[in-house]
Amino acid sequence: MSATVAIVGRPNVGKSTFYNRLVGSREAIVDNSSGVTRDRLYGVSDWNGDEFIVVDTGGFVPRSEDVFEKAIRSQVEIAIDEADVIVFMVDVTTGITDLDMEMARKLRKTEKPTALVVNKVDNSQRMTDAAEFYSLGFPELFMISSINGSGTGELLDFIVEEIRKNGRGPGLSREEESLPKFAIIGQPNVGKSSYLNAILNEERNVVTDIAGTTRDSIHTHYKYYQKEFLLIDTAGVRKKSKVYEDLKFYYVMRAVKAIEQSDVCLLMLDATLGLERQDLSLIKIIERKKKGLVILVNKWDLVGKESNTARDFEEDIKKRTAPFTDVPVVFISALSKQRIYKSIETALDVYKNRKKKIPTSKLNDELLPIIERTPPPSARGQYIKVKYITQVNASTPTFVFFTNFPQLVKQPYKNFLENRIRELFDFTGVIINIVFKKK
Ligand code: GDP
Ligand code: GDP
Repeated sequence: MSATVAIVGRPNVGKSTFYNRLVGSREAIVDNSSGVTRDRLYGVSDWNGDEFIVVDTGGFVPRSEDVFEKAIRSQVEIAIDEADVIVFMVDVTTGITDLDMEMARKLRKTEKPTALVVNKVDNSQRMTDAAEFYSLGFPELFMISSINGSGTGELLDFIVEEIRKNGRGPGLSREEESLPKFAIIGQPNVGKSSYLNAILNEERNVVTDIAGTTRDSIHTHYKYYQKEFLLIDTAGVRKKSKVYEDLKFYYVMRAVKAIEQSDVCLLMLDATLGLERQDLSLIKIIERKKKGLVILVNKWDLVGKESNTARDFEEDIKKRTAPFTDVPVVFISALSKQRIYKSIETALDVYKNRKKKIPTSKLNDELLPIIERTPPPSARGQYIKVKYITQVNASTPTFVFFTNFPQLVKQPYKNFLENRIRELFDFTGVIINIVFKKK
């Protein structure tokens, strides 16, 4: 579950301090693309085992005064549209400001769970001061200190509880539930809507439009040359205003949701720009969620073709997605409709790979001799013996190796096994889990 929690509030209330407290040194999803003032804008946090994605919306807002009010306004609107839980942060040391009141007016109207968080309540004197914020009229008020951590536990309890209550997912019928679900994600202007149009126009056979639970998440049931699938569209068909598109925050939240709902993600790049940091951030989320991945390099028509261009391009991409390099890359042009069919076929292949089950006998016949030839290096004087292997039911292919000393097997050996499995059985585009268990 990748619910998103958006921290909104005017500058200097302590949004990034709180963000850092939540995400801290955990694996951060880095995004410091141009035009933003902070290093880290969104990252994974968890509380008592519940994971969620925290978005520091302040990081998306330019700090110069003139553009800033407009940006703040959009920041609030987007949080209302896209976040699962909103943290509205104010500052006890300044009291209520005009901008706080303006933001509060907007936020009070939303039905999204919203916590009013009075920050910088570092001591009990300030707790008394914080009481004035009750006048903003929010049902949930939390007093915290992002610096010393006080009060943050209760706030996190609230956040996690709201996320649990609102377990999501679009209302799909049983039949639709069984169809492959592809999410088309990528930065603004890479060509996502053009790609959807290319599919639409080639064969006019959209089966249905299913509006998701969230206002703009659109699932379209396609039948394309006899292949049926659902496309989850993040940006395309119903485009929002340009202001939204320009805010990375918006595209990130849309993308996270689409990834969550998909089986396979079609990550689209602009051939003239290549793979950018934001794309790598999305790939990280895809890996974490164990979804299938196909990389579509769009606008291939704009690239001058020398003999090795595609191969070099692909190698370059894979260098950057490493260690997850077994990923199909398809060079397309949404404009001239080049390899559109191929891209869908590839996504279907990845979908099948993700569901593929290798019979236990075949696994053992193929892998045990390899393991015999190259056994796990012995550790602490122990000889590690793999007894048998089986693939268990899981959302992504998961192989369990039964052995006498599971805890002594190191990552490099697991990587070795993963590579052999990929060579033998073709799991292109999907994450593989290798697990060692005691037997
Ligand atoms: P943002 O612009 O809302 O992201 O605010 P920052 O996180 O950059 O914080 C603005 C200032 O407030 C910084 O100097 C922080 O050190 C300070 N600050 C943040 N949280 C607290 C807190 O809980 N207590 C106190 N005393 N200062 C804080
Ligand atoms: P989105 O924001 O990802 O949905 O991107 P759009 O589909 O709106 O495309 C952005 C711009 O790129 C538009 O001007 C498109 O005409 C252009 N574009 C999209 N696909 C291609 C392509 O394959 N080749 C070329 N040359 N331009 C493209």
